[in-house]
Amino acid sequence: MKTLVIIGGGASGFFLGANIKSENWKVIILEQAKHPLQKVKISGGGRCNVTNACFNPKELVKSYPRGSKELLSVFSCFQPADTLEWFAQRNIRLKTEDDNRVFPETDSSQTIIDALLHAARENGVQIHYETPVTGILKDSEKFEIKTTHRTYQTDALVVAAGSSSKIWEIISGLGHTIVPPVPSLFTFNCKNDILTDLQGISFPKAELLIPQFKLKESGSLLITHWGLSGPAILKLSSRGAREAAFSDYNFTLRINWVSEKFDHVKENLSQHRSAHPKKSIYSLKLYDIPQRFWKNMLQTLEIKEKTLSDLGKTESNKIAETLTNSQLQITGKSTFKEEFVTAGGVDLKEIDFRTMQSKLIPDLYFAGEVLNIDALTGGFNLQACWSEAFVISRQFK
Ligand SMILES: Cc1cc2nc3c(=O)[nH]c(=O)nc-3n(C[C@H](O)[C@H](O)[C@H](O)COP(=O)(O)OP(=O)(O)OC[C@H]3O[C@@H](n4cnc5c(N)ncnc54)[C@H](O)[C@@H]3O)c2cc1C
Repeated sequence: MKTLVIIGGGASGFFLGANIKSENWKVIILEQAKHPLQKVKISGGGRCNVTNACFNPKELVKSYPRGSKELLSVFSCFQPADTLEWFAQRNIRLKTEDDNRVFPETDSSQTIIDALLHAARENGVQIHYETPVTGILKDSEKFEIKTTHRTYQTDALVVAAGSSSKIWEIISGLGHTIVPPVPSLFTFNCKNDILTDLQGISFPKAELLIPQFKLKESGSLLITHWGLSGPAILKLSSRGAREAAFSDYNFTLRINWVSEKFDHVKENLSQHRSAHPKKSIYSLKLYDIPQRFWKNMLQTLEIKEKTLSDLGKTESNKIAETLTNSQLQITGKSTFKEEFVTAGGVDLKEIDFRTMQSKLIPDLYFAGEVLNIDALTGGFNLQACWSEAFVISRQFK
């Protein structure tokens, strides 16, 4: 019987163990922690957003700023529909929320952990906890895996150790290129008078642009205590993770708060002026803009209380310009609900995505966050782990 060692008892490591049922392979998971699947435990705020109900691989890959091209073949082999089926076969009921995120019906990540543990144990996978890997050597035949208290010989090796700098250092020692890790999925820090005391206010249809990075996003924008958050910001942070890190999180963000053209806003103002000339500019309701934001904006533009008929052309222009093209200086980043992933990891050029095997070292495989693959929020990161692990499992029959 041959031996397969999996480094890392996280989402990808366990899904792999849960899918290898073989009389030819003895499977051992080496996990440095006392308990398995700790990230799955806290995922989705403890509810585990297990996948996303996007069933077209070509659509699905658009949610991966890094890895989209490579994952197409992986998702053609195992995609969210397969994830749903996999859990259904194990009597785990999943539910899809309005935004396509999929959770266990229990709303508890423990349900997912229990299912993975059960399936891995049923397959006879050995799990060695408190076993941190400290080195990997490869001779012509086998791998030698050094841990703090013993050495393992293995015929094949899967590295599923997440975003671990120690493991990246070891892999780099084996000859693989590591794309330097940077955080992804964060919110933007920004101090600007227009945002003062507006935390909690959201704009459902904002358009965002970072000219310096040539990046655009649209969607819901949320004002927070420290700056800006919401789905549109998280998408920008993910797509621009590397550029943002390079700028040391200092860049200009342009915001169209209402997704309207400058001329349209001016036209709208002028129609209100004709219809209600005696109305106060401070009580005007334009595009459902929250009243507190409208007031902040007028004060920032130094427009005093006056009737619409007294509003000058320059002032109208300033309002239209602010609503359609505010320029805010971003000065840093903050964590989003403790959820973050790492952009960076093993260079994708060095992996054969038909098998997830290293192109440099035979019998060495990678899955999960250890690779330079990451996604937007919505269950996509875990789906990549499930799919990559499944592809590997087919090599061990
Ligand atoms: C707070 C939070 C919430 C999240 N929520 C979601 C969500 O709801 N949906 C979603 O899709 N994604 C979510 N993510 C992202 C998702 O959890 C990760 O992408 C996924 O867990 C990565 O799985 P992995 O197997 O690659 O790595 P991990 O789950 O990190 O597992 C790697 C394992 O390897 C072990 N290890 C590391 N080094 C060694 C070593 N030297 N020796 C032995 N073992 C080692 C670690 O202890 C760990 O157990 C969330 C992330 C965070 C931080």
